[in-house]
Amino acid sequence: MIREELQKKIRTVEPYVPGEQPKEKVIKLNTNENPYPPSPAVRKTLAALDADDFRLYPDPAAGELVEAIAEIYHVGTDQVFPGVGSDDVLSLCFLTFFNSDRPVLFPDITYSFYKVWAQLYRIPYECPALDEGFRIVKEDYYRENGGIIFPNPNAPTGIYEDLDFLEDILSHNRDSIVIIDEAYVDFAGRSAVELLGRYDNLIVTQTFSKSRSMAGMRIGYAISSPELIRCLNNVKYSFNSYTMSRAALACGAAGVRDRGYFEDHVRKIIRTRKRTEEELRGMGFITTSSSANFLFVRHPQHEGRELFEKLRSEKICVRHWDDDRICQYLRITVGTDEEMDLLIGTLRRYV
Ligand SMILES: *Cc1c(COP(=O)(O)O)cnc(C)c1O
Repeated sequence: MIREELQKKIRTVEPYVPGEQPKEKVIKLNTNENPYPPSPAVRKTLAALDADDFRLYPDPAAGELVEAIAEIYHVGTDQVFPGVGSDDVLSLCFLTFFNSDRPVLFPDITYSFYKVWAQLYRIPYECPALDEGFRIVKEDYYRENGGIIFPNPNAPTGIYEDLDFLEDILSHNRDSIVIIDEAYVDFAGRSAVELLGRYDNLIVTQTFSKSRSMAGMRIGYAISSPELIRCLNNVKYSFNSYTMSRAALACGAAGVRDRGYFEDHVRKIIRTRKRTEEELRGMGFITTSSSANFLFVRHPQHEGRELFEKLRSEKICVRHWDDDRICQYLRITVGTDEEMDLLIGTLRRYV
């Protein structure tokens, strides 16, 4: 126990709880990783790295990675801010852009890290409830606030809102920063990056962890106006100038440049998602219409926790939360077709 007088001076926070990373061999459908390896170009780039160079600091501006990302999104290199996974980028965004006495707004059911950063940085926040169908109620965001953030598609519901919906929120909030967390957008539809020219209050974040098969390399980025990217860089350089390793910079740039491989594998996951969703519905599961690389499902005759534990005992890991509103649901990452067949077979025997 820390003495009370010391405790009072320590910054404490209820931390984010990441999904389990089991040591034993399991079918891992619990943290939305990609079941396919990254592009062969990444392997080649990694093999060509010279460990002698690791004695030198990496490029603090992450030039080669920034250029590769800027090229595919048709934006300037001064509009891209890379970081150690999008969690790093999002955390710096909270610190940089949510700096008001008014509450930051994000949905009650969403990525649970938002609440942790708000608490850590002592940012006031409020969480408007999703509607009965787990949709964001945009009118809830038409009031004074200290900033807005939500994922699109939302997590863990997988529900994607189109660009008109985002524009309604952006245009009602000209004086607040609106962050759209696009961790799953490649599986869904158009990116809000196309709206950047029209809204100077928009920040879009994306990650290499899901659609780009590189969760282990830790690469994420924000795309916004040069002015807002400069603000992020100022905070980053006040913190840690060298966030991206040499290996991540080289491998990330190589991965982004292989667009054909990326597009093929995204399509493959979408096909597997659709097929799995149909099979589960056929077994009586109720699903949100997910546009991500996971499904969010419940069965009217079985408790969420019971299904979660049953699958875990069969060495199939999925995600479950005890939160009242979603405790009947499982979030199941879309794996390979073989993995989905095993999941479906196990559930079919049980329900
Ligand atoms: C996975 C995820 C992230 C962060 O991923 P990183 O691995 O840190 O890039 C951010 N937001 C949402 C909604 C996610 O699901």
